[in-house]
Amino acid sequence: MKLSHLRNIASHFGRTDRMPVLFLGHGSPMNAIEENMFVASFRELGHSLPKPQLILCVSAHWETKGTFVTAMSSPETIHDFGGFPRELYEVQYPAPGSPEWASKAKKIITKTEVELDYNWGLDHGAWSVIKHLYPQADVPVIQMSIDYTKPSQYHYDLAKEIGELSRKGVLIVGSGNMVHNLRLADFRRLSGDPYGYDWAIEANELMKSYILDDDHQSLIQYRKQGAAFDLAIPTPEHYLPLIYALALKEKNDEITLFNDEPVGGSLTMTSVLITP
Ligand code: ZN
Repeated sequence: MKLSHLRNIASHFGRTDRMPVLFLGHGSPMNAIEENMFVASFRELGHSLPKPQLILCVSAHWETKGTFVTAMSSPETIHDFGGFPRELYEVQYPAPGSPEWASKAKKIITKTEVELDYNWGLDHGAWSVIKHLYPQADVPVIQMSIDYTKPSQYHYDLAKEIGELSRKGVLIVGSGNMVHNLRLADFRRLSGDPYGYDWAIEANELMKSYILDDDHQSLIQYRKQGAAFDLAIPTPEHYLPLIYALALKEKNDEITLFNDEPVGGSLTMTSVLITP
């Protein structure tokens, strides 16, 4: 996917009152401060998207028992990683939160009791990508947690309930990685030239074909897709944000894949733009 193509896609925005939906592959936290093709795409996308009223982010890095939404007015920038250069710990992303939108999100979700959270903030799954979309930090951001006790179908069904927010000017962003196996990663190759193991590329290709075919059931039942999927999804937290984004796709929406590259052998940065 070329950036110029992203621009063409963007020219379609405004046809409906629904906001696009995103799944963003976030990869290494260093993407927050490094310059590379991935962040260049995020920036380009930020220029093309209609400015949202709010961003609701489902990040791989906030797993809870039960479902929470952040409800503080000034969420803290959380540096939830270890062993990185000082420069990364100094990044602040001072986007406001929104107690009002958090209450609205809680109200429209009926399948489960959503609790308001005042302790989290913005984790790097959220800020390391949103900062490239909206560098001014002038769009309020709330996060919704991933209930690690629940199966993937539950997350898909829950996501459908927040679709209504897309009609109210909310940009819903899932942030994770489709293929994400840190244990097998070659950390020296997380940035620089694309590099993927055979199984990582196989799983990524299959995921993309399911995405483009609207075969969401195969993606929900990811444990039935064979060895490459099992290696690609050793734990589900980086994969589930994709499920949230896809659940919000409506029949005639357009899918655009971008940043479709493997890094570090065992991760893919493949990202999805769903356009009404
Ligand atoms: Zn991550």
